[in-house]
Amino acid sequence: MYCSVILPSWTLLTPNEWKQGRGFPQFTSRLDSFEYKPGRVILRHIRKNYATAYLPGIGEVKFHNSRDLSLIQDLRTCTIKRFGGNWYISMLVEIPGMLPELNALDLCRAVVGIDVGITKLVALSDGRFLENKRFATNKRKARRLAMRQRAIARKQKGSKNKIKAIKKLAKQQHKIAQQRDGYNWQVASTIVETADAVAREDLKIKNMVKRAKPKHDGNGGYKRNGGSQKTGLNRVIQDAGWGDIFYKITWLAVKMGKPVIVVPAKHSSQECPKCGHIDKANREGEKFLCVNCGHVEHADKKASRTLAKRAGLVFPKNKSTLPPDWGKVTLSRYQSLRVETLVPSLWESPPCVGNFDSRICERYG
Ligand SMILES: [Zn+2]
Repeated sequence: MYCSVILPSWTLLTPNEWKQGRGFPQFTSRLDSFEYKPGRVILRHIRKNYATAYLPGIGEVKFHNSRDLSLIQDLRTCTIKRFGGNWYISMLVEIPGMLPELNALDLCRAVVGIDVGITKLVALSDGRFLENKRFATNKRKARRLAMRQRAIARKQKGSKNKIKAIKKLAKQQHKIAQQRDGYNWQVASTIVETADAVAREDLKIKNMVKRAKPKHDGNGGYKRNGGSQKTGLNRVIQDAGWGDIFYKITWLAVKMGKPVIVVPAKHSSQECPKCGHIDKANREGEKFLCVNCGHVEHADKKASRTLAKRAGLVFPKNKSTLPPDWGKVTLSRYQSLRVETLVPSLWESPPCVGNFDSRICERYG
C-alpha cells in the first residue's frame, strides 16, 4: 500500500465522544495536525531503522526510527503533523534522570560570548566565526522560491493545478526549513562545547524585524522610506534564525548542565573594550575603530568579547598561553543577570520531558 496514513477529512470521533452526543462528524477544510492523549498510542515494533506505532482510528503506522526509542518509559501526548507533504509523529516522552544539575557559575572554568549577525552568523569570543549559509535568501534559493510563487500566482483560482503549485512551494520551503534546522543544531553544539558557560545577548528579534514606518510628505502622500530595503533585511534576519539558535543553545546547554547567561545587548557593538567609549562612529562595517583611543578590532569578534565580559564572570589575568576567559572565576554583578533554563517548572523537578520527532514513512506495507 502506498502511503498508509490516509487521513479522513472529517474530525475523528472516539466512541465515547459519539455517546456524549457530539453528533455527526463535521467536515474540516484542512487537517494538518491532530493529537492523541497519553496512553492512546502504542509503540509496537521497534527495529533498528524503523518502528511502528498503533494510532487509534488509523491503524499500524511505520515510521523512521531516528532516536533510541528503548529509552522511552512513558509515552505521553502524541501529535501527528503534516509539513511539506510529509507526515510526522511527535511523541512527548518521559526519560528520568536525563537532565543533570546546572553547574554553579563559580565552578565554570571558561565562558564563551556569542554575537549573532548577518555576514557572519555567529562570532565567538575565542575568535572563531560560524558561516551564515542563508538557506532561503541566497541567490539560487531566493530565485527558486520566487519562481514557485510566480507559478502559483499564474494558476487559475480554485484549480487543481494551483493546488499542485502550492504543494511544490510548500515542499521547497520545508526543505529549506529542515536544512536550517540541521545547520543550527551544528552551530549550537559547536558553541556549547566550547566552554562551561555561554553568554548571549538579549535580543528582541520581534522588534528588529518590524517594517519601516511610512513617511508622510504633508500633502496626503508619502515620501520614500526605504521600505523595500528594510523588508529585504528583515527577510535575511528571519532566514538566519537567531531565536532558533538561542533555543537550541539553551537546550543543549541544559542537557550538559551548563548555564546560559543572557546579558543586555545595548551598545555591545559600539562600546570600546579598551577605554569604554561608546560611539556609533566606532563601527565601520566589519571594522571596529575607537574614535577616542584608536583601538582596532574585528567588530563582531569585539562584540562577542564584550558580551562574554558582561556575563559578570571575572577570570584571573593570565600572562601565560591560557585564553583570557579561563581559570578560577569570581563572580561580579551576577545577581542582576538572567541565567536561562529551558522550562523552569521542569527544571525544578527532573525527570525531564523531551520531544521525539520522527518522520512517518511514506511507503508502508
Ligand atoms: Zn577606545
